This record gives sequence, C-alpha cells and structure tokens, in this order.
Amino acid sequence: MGMLSSLKDAVSGQSNNLESNETGSSTNSYGLLIGGELVQTGETLDVINPATEEIFTSVPLAGAGELEAAVAAATTAAKNFKSTSIEERQALIKKIVKAMGAHKEELALALVQEQGKSLDMARLEVDFSMGFAMHFTTVGLPIEVLLETDAQRVEIHRKPLGVVAGITAWNFPLLMAAYKLAPAILAGNAIILKPAPTTPVSTVMLGEIIKDIVPPGLVSILVDNNELGAKITSHPGIAKISFTGSIATGKKVMASGADTLKRVTLELGGNDAGIVLDAADPKAMAQNLFNVAFMNSGQVCIALKRLYVHDSIYDAICDEMAVLAKGAIVGDGMKDGTQFGPVQNKQQFEIIKGFIEDAKANGNIIAGGQVPDIPGYFIPLTVVRDISDGTKLVDEEPFGPILPIIKFSDIDEVIERSNRLDYGLGGSVWSSDVDKAVKVAEKMDTGTVWINSHMAFGPNIPFPPCKQSGVGVEWGKEGLNEFTSMQVINIAKG
Ligand code: NAD
Repeated sequence: MGMLSSLKDAVSGQSNNLESNETGSSTNSYGLLIGGELVQTGETLDVINPATEEIFTSVPLAGAGELEAAVAAATTAAKNFKSTSIEERQALIKKIVKAMGAHKEELALALVQEQGKSLDMARLEVDFSMGFAMHFTTVGLPIEVLLETDAQRVEIHRKPLGVVAGITAWNFPLLMAAYKLAPAILAGNAIILKPAPTTPVSTVMLGEIIKDIVPPGLVSILVDNNELGAKITSHPGIAKISFTGSIATGKKVMASGADTLKRVTLELGGNDAGIVLDAADPKAMAQNLFNVAFMNSGQVCIALKRLYVHDSIYDAICDEMAVLAKGAIVGDGMKDGTQFGPVQNKQQFEIIKGFIEDAKANGNIIAGGQVPDIPGYFIPLTVVRDISDGTKLVDEEPFGPILPIIKFSDIDEVIERSNRLDYGLGGSVWSSDVDKAVKVAEKMDTGTVWINSHMAFGPNIPFPPCKQSGVGVEWGKEGLNEFTSMQVINIAKG
C-alpha cells in the first residue's frame, strides 16, 4: 500500500480506533502514586493523541506541594528499605513485573494513544519494559575484594544513595520508567519518576499497578507540564538524577544539580552515523538499514540518523531505501497494519517539517517529503540523497522519520566526518569484512559501535554515551553501579 493511501486510511479509520479507547484506559480518574496513595491534585493535564490531535485522556498534574510530599515519603521509605537484602529487592521487582504482566494490553493501548506508535511496537515496549526490569532480579551487588594480602584486605561495597529521581523522554515512556525503576530499587533506593508531559499515562498507570506491591513512598510518580524538572534537579532531598532527554535540557540538569552536588546520569541526544563500506547484497542491507533508521518513526536516541555509503554502492542503497520508505504504512497506531505512527507531539512535528525544508534546499528527496494536510502529526518516511555534511539535516538530530544518505569514497575521511559533531551516542559500520569494520569502529568517537547492525541493546549491555550525548552509563553492571554509592572498606590485618 502506498504512503498517501495509508495515511488516508488512518484518518478514515479514526472512529473505529477511538472506539477501541474503551478497551484501553481513557478514564479521567488516574491518581499519582505518592506516599503509597493514588493522589488527585485538583489540577489535570490533558494528553493529546498524536494520531488524532484529540484529547486521549487527562492525568493529575503535580506541583511543588506534591513534590515535597513525594520527597518526604521517599526519604522515609529509603531509610527503611536500605537494610533489605538483595533477595528481598529482587523479589519485589519480580512482583512488579508480574503485576505489569497482568496489565500488558492496557499498558500497550495507552502507549499507542499517548505516544502514537503502532500497537505491535507498543506491545514490544511493554515486553521490553518487563524484560529490562526482570534482568535486575538476576543480578546483585556483591562485595568486591580488591586486595587481599597478609597485611590488608580492601573491599568495595555498594550502598544505596537514598532518594533518586528518574526524568524521562516521550519516545519510550514505559521502557524508560521500568529501566530506571528496577536498578534504583535493586540498589536499595526510593525513586521518584517524572515522565515527559506529553506521555505521562503509561507511567501513571505503572504507579497504579504497583501501588499495593511496593512499600509506601518507595516509588512516586509526578506529572508536570515542564515546571517540576528544575525543582527536582535542585532538591536537596534527592541524591541522584537519572535523566533521559535532550542535550539542551541535560545541560540544565547538570547545572541545576551542581549546588547540591547531585550524582547525574544523563542519556541525551544522538546523531548516530552508519558507515557502509561495501554491500554484498544491497537489497538485504538496505532492509536492515531501513529498520534501524525508521523504528518508532525515527524517534529513538540510537536510531541511525546519518547514513554514509561508499560511492560504489551509493545509488543501489539509495534506490532500495526509497522503495522501502515509499512502501511503508504510516498511520494511526490503533489501526491494523500500521507500521509507523505519527511524530509524538506538535512541537516535534514542526521541527521535522523544518528538517524537510532543509532537505528540499540542500538535497534530493527520493521518498516522502510531502506532509499531508490531515489531522495527526503524520510525516511520511523521508529519504534524502545528494546531501552533504554541514547541512542542518546531517549535522543536527531530527528525532523523526527523515534520513540523509551521504556519499563517501575515502574511509579515513568518512571516519573524520562521522566524528566531527558533538554527539557521540552510537554508530555502526557495515561490511562483509568484519575485521576491517572493527578497525573503523575503533576510530569512531561513540559510546557504542555496532558492526552490521545498529540499535541492538539490552539491560546486560552497558550503554555509555560519548561527548555531549551524555554523562555516565545506563544498564549493565556499570549502569547499576550508578544507582549506588561506592564505599571502600580497608581492613588492616594482624
Ligand atoms: P527534553 O529534554 O525536552 O525532555 C526530557 C524530560 O526532561 C521531560 O520529562 C521534561 O519534562 C524534562 N524537563 C524539561 N525541562 C527540564 C528541566 N529544566 N530540568 C529537568 N527536566 C526537565 O527531551 P525530549 O524532547 O522529551 O526527548 C527527546 C530527546 O531525548 C532527543 O534528543 C533524544 O535523542 C533524547 N533521548 C535520549 C535517549 C538516550 O538514552 N540517550 C533516549 C531517548 C531520548
């Protein structure tokens, strides 16, 4: 099915889709989990469905009072919780995952309607959220013996930080909540979660789902309209911020946390380059490249965002990518067959339109590029060729369904080109010669480099950013350690 007809179908199918809200979570009686209670605040925030631009539901809006209540409850909860054993914490996380499992479909339906993604993608996000949390039931924080001699024994212990906060972005709201909550709890902390204002529903639902499972105050959910972030990041009762969002806001988080010397983990924006050295089968490779560039409509921090292709296969890869983009079904995520949903919010929609204008001026659009005049923040998957470094589309992160494909002929030169920006999240090298690809990977200034794939990630694999893509690490042993305070116990013997 062609792009435009799919978009039209998406619109004509809206009434059916909205009916299915009734099976979802379209209710105005949500409560924010604070101090073990579901709290109504007297104020609400409307949540817009990006596929319809209509109000999907509304959730309570927290203010400074709710933040103080959450910090007070979290402080008490953290004091009680810090003496629990690893096994008790793992058991608690298992119960949380089990409870999520009992509400999988409601969570998925809420994700579609608040975020815009397809139902399949939403179900995958719920599964990933549970899988990430479950991982932290299989790992611990054992005492590490650094040194053992006749005279001395040096041990490294990992202690809880106390109250931590997780501030999240709107592309994978539930997954981010889960992958911050589980390691925070495993490390013995209380956590306050604050989702992005445009996608609070699944996080609020998570709070409701686990209300009777977690000790009061151990997990709090606060919804804001972008006013609480600065208050959270400067709050003296909060020891650490685990932040996922844009580079611009990440800098504010770091500055705001400085006064109280907060620990910060910042997972920020990326502009991942993929470098294709050669392609034995351009068609098969293009399919892989397409999947990692446009997943979740390109709204992934580690999506492939700049594709450098060797001139020997440039035309073949461009042609294949255009065919795939033109054949993609973009529409309302609630509608059967939809592969790619709209952009999540109006602000981002306008930003992506700006990137399309840049592509028109500086490149050659070979798929997409025409934004339909219909309700919803729909952008057809857009592929741009004959574009160079130094343009807005190549140098800045679009965070949407638009991909520039740039030609190169010299490997050393393309490595330098890929490294020239302040971003350093991920990158990839594609070649049938893996050794050659690894040599290129070693020269790339990014936290992760994939060979012949992109975006492959998991809770057991550290996710470290380079340069301005962030500070600290999430996931893996290193990511878990960031939710702890290291203590050295240095024992003199005899
Ligand atoms: P954003 O920075 O605008 O918002 C992120 C969160 O920060 C939201 O919850 C927001 O309410 C909150 N916030 C706003 N002002 C704040 C302040 N002054 N202090 C503290 N918090 C504040 O980012 P976004 O637009 O929601 O997300 C898109 C960006 O996130 C992209 O750049 C993307 O690459 C990045 N991202 C990174 C990762 C990663 O793991 N590296 C993952 C997903 C998204």
